[in-house]
Amino acid sequence: MTEQVDVLVVGAGPAGSSAARMAAAGGARVLMVEQRPIVGLPVQCAEYVPAQIVSTIRLPEQCITQRIRTLRTHLPDGDVVETRAAGYVVERALLDKALAVSAYRAGARIWTGARALERTERGVLVRRDAQSTEVVCRVVIGADGPRSSVGSWIGLSNASFIDAQQVEVVLPDPQDYTEVFFDPAYAGGYGWLFPKGETANVGVGVNRSLGGDPQRALAQLLDQLGMGSGAIVSHTGGPVPSGGTLDRLRVGSVLLVGDAAGHTHPVTGAGIFSAVVSGAFAGQAAAEAVQSGDWATLDGYENEWTPFMGGPLRHALGKRRFLDQHWSDDPAALSALIRENWIAFKAYGRR
Ligand SMILES: Cc1cc2nc3c(=O)[nH]c(=O)nc-3n(C[C@H](O)[C@H](O)[C@H](O)COP(=O)(O)OP(=O)(O)OC[C@H]3O[C@@H](n4cnc5c(N)ncnc54)[C@H](O)[C@@H]3O)c2cc1C
Repeated sequence: MTEQVDVLVVGAGPAGSSAARMAAAGGARVLMVEQRPIVGLPVQCAEYVPAQIVSTIRLPEQCITQRIRTLRTHLPDGDVVETRAAGYVVERALLDKALAVSAYRAGARIWTGARALERTERGVLVRRDAQSTEVVCRVVIGADGPRSSVGSWIGLSNASFIDAQQVEVVLPDPQDYTEVFFDPAYAGGYGWLFPKGETANVGVGVNRSLGGDPQRALAQLLDQLGMGSGAIVSHTGGPVPSGGTLDRLRVGSVLLVGDAAGHTHPVTGAGIFSAVVSGAFAGQAAAEAVQSGDWATLDGYENEWTPFMGGPLRHALGKRRFLDQHWSDDPAALSALIRENWIAFKAYGRR
């Protein structure tokens, strides 16, 4: 079987749905394929987004589970520092679904349970309901997450990751601040508590090459918080790219966006906002290329993305490398390192 479209988007996460929405809104015939049977599930996320996200997407009220005012940073020397950090903890499954609905309303079609298998001369082979379809297309947008297949087809892959483990626990009392925890055992990463009404996402991300063990670190954090295993209502985890934006975001008519492009913040691990932004830029460039027939128009994606997010992510990558090189088992030394290199502190802005 064959299917003919202008733009094929692989992956229906925030990056894919944003790309599909913008490409379809720009007049392209768009198909978005998602290997999971249900868009957005299972959730692999701590679900915090900065308030700034509402400048790029409509955040439906039902997606918001908790409004956040501040961030409390717990240092290994016992100091706790509170800073402004307006944002939301969202119901990520609902957010992903809302973004996919927006893509559909703009004119994109969605296939769930459909896995992109390999590149063909004319497009991509997709397996759905035990049936293979060759999707013939002019542009492919790889929005297929941290370990992107589309990226591997064009020789562009994330090389370093933080390994994250997380549980959702019953929260004794509601709170309107997020918390992060630094400890020598959370090697090259940190622990977090992000409240969502009656529950909270409690997790840890660590760098295994620095000796981090995500399961042990999570057990330690739960112990530190006095939260027993009887309070856990769900468990998730996954890899978070930490090596920064890939050297290239496009080869020919194949573009990478979101986690597939390494757009996750190398220090915080946050990637939803940049996935939405990069997807939108790529979708727009794809529509323009399809309409004009001028493939150089695809450069518009990087030309928009780089001035918008390139600088902050490059800066964060420098900080990530410094943190990894100087990680310390000594609580006082680690606290000093975090005061210089964590986003909550003024010194973070310095090179
Ligand atoms: C434990 C954890 C906590 C996190 N917490 C936060 C947070 O609080 N805030 C934040 O901003 N970021 C957080 N992140 C990062 C954030 O989840 C990602 O940056 C974000 O999901 C990136 O969106 P994306 O659309 O690029 O990729 P994804 O959301 O990963 O979507 C990729 C989609 O592609 C699909 N796919 C993959 N391969 C194929 C294929 N071959 N064919 C078809 N479909 C395919 C996948 O099924 C998936 O649905 C966290 C990550 C983890 C692991």
